[in-house]
Amino acid sequence: MSQEDLLALSPQQLVRFLESEGIRRFCFTYDASSGAVRSSHPQLEPIAAFLQADRRDFIGHEGLFFQISREHDTLQGAFVHRTCRGPAAGGVRYWHYPTVEDYLRDGLRLGIGMTRKNALAGLWWGGGKGVMAHNPDVPKEDPGVRASLYREYGELMTSLRGCYVTAEDVGTKVVDMACVFATTRFTTCIPPELGGSGNPSIPTARGVVAGMEAALEFLDGSDLRGKSVAIQGMGNVGGPLIGFLFEKGVGRVLACDIDPGNAERLRREHEGRPLEARVVEEGDVSFFAEECDLFSPCATGAILNPETIPTMRARIVCGAANNQLEDPDRDDRLLHERGILYVPDFLTNRMGIVNCADEHVGRIPDDPLIERHLSREWEFSIHRMCLQVLRNAREAGRPPSVVATEMADELSLELNPLFGHRGQAIVDSLVAERWHES
Ligand code: NAD
Repeated sequence: MSQEDLLALSPQQLVRFLESEGIRRFCFTYDASSGAVRSSHPQLEPIAAFLQADRRDFIGHEGLFFQISREHDTLQGAFVHRTCRGPAAGGVRYWHYPTVEDYLRDGLRLGIGMTRKNALAGLWWGGGKGVMAHNPDVPKEDPGVRASLYREYGELMTSLRGCYVTAEDVGTKVVDMACVFATTRFTTCIPPELGGSGNPSIPTARGVVAGMEAALEFLDGSDLRGKSVAIQGMGNVGGPLIGFLFEKGVGRVLACDIDPGNAERLRREHEGRPLEARVVEEGDVSFFAEECDLFSPCATGAILNPETIPTMRARIVCGAANNQLEDPDRDDRLLHERGILYVPDFLTNRMGIVNCADEHVGRIPDDPLIERHLSREWEFSIHRMCLQVLRNAREAGRPPSVVATEMADELSLELNPLFGHRGQAIVDSLVAERWHES
């Protein structure tokens, strides 16, 4: 099959093609010395060629490993981007993808994002991401189906011997992580009853507050007292964020959600406080034009774009949503040109991974390993890192996300002081032992 044909297939069509070829596991690995992407199977060489030629989403990913689940014919993948600082860490997403190209690009991009987030957080972890493509022929919410899929995902982790350690992500729940944990030790975000770290949303909201405070300090030496904040999304992060902001003395919060239940709940919770909780239609972007000091995206990604940015009146954008800039190069520049200070999302929303990444070393109440990210003392804290990024960006006259990305990329190449580039050694051993035949 040609490259074009393979990439245009739906994930399910690819699964059928692979089954007809007798392939259950396959992989693509990067040979840094030659710059070549190796494919486990000649039939999949066109995909290796696509990866090698791509300049947008493929940046020398150390290994991409895939399997078709034995039950429910589901494409399951592990995208190992970079493991210099430690095993690749990042959650497993369970999502619907129209084409194989969409599936691959999402995993590639998310894997790079985790490398950068983890490096800037000073974590001794590399970056990677898991992606499972929903097979439209199987019921997505059926507990039995999910248990089987996530147990098989755990088997994939075990087979990869720890070069990637998975976690929860969009479409995956804590109960699913218990199923992953049943078949592998290479996972985090397992339920607290089994020794895991539980829901990271509260620390994530606190991380957003830390980013906001750093941005205000940078801008004019002020703090959150008396400020007005507009929050898009009142879910797991946006909801608690409202309470934390009132604790900081914020003068007014204007929040919106497409879910009337969320708006109603928060209105009740904060009765008597200066909160306007509004219900909006999906796709309605008028909220972006609200008068406020800070705008906090806590709903979905790609919401900062040429349609919304020109209407914005906030001085600062700082929120939890992943991939807020629709096009990172273009949109950070647009914000910069409008004089809006953008705090890169991967700097402020790190607490999700921070909360779970080191859960294997044990938990302590008010864990210092976690709390230091929210402090002002530690050099890798959100506050200190934000200030450093914003100052470097101002000095260089460049947008903050570009500067943060460069800093992250440099940090991501530091070798783990105890284990060196062990993840790459694991990938090499998997290739040598013909993992795809396992
Ligand atoms: P969530 O699903 O609990 O909340 C998102 C809320 O946004 C929902 O209430 C939803 O109804 C609302 N929403 C969706 N589209 C909207 C729109 N167009 N306008 C207004 N509201 C809209 O998710 P969450 O856990 O609160 O996470 C929020 C964002 O932060 C996500 O992008 C997530 O990937 C990111 N994030 C979360 C964590 C975490 O710890 N939960 C960590 C890192 C990043």
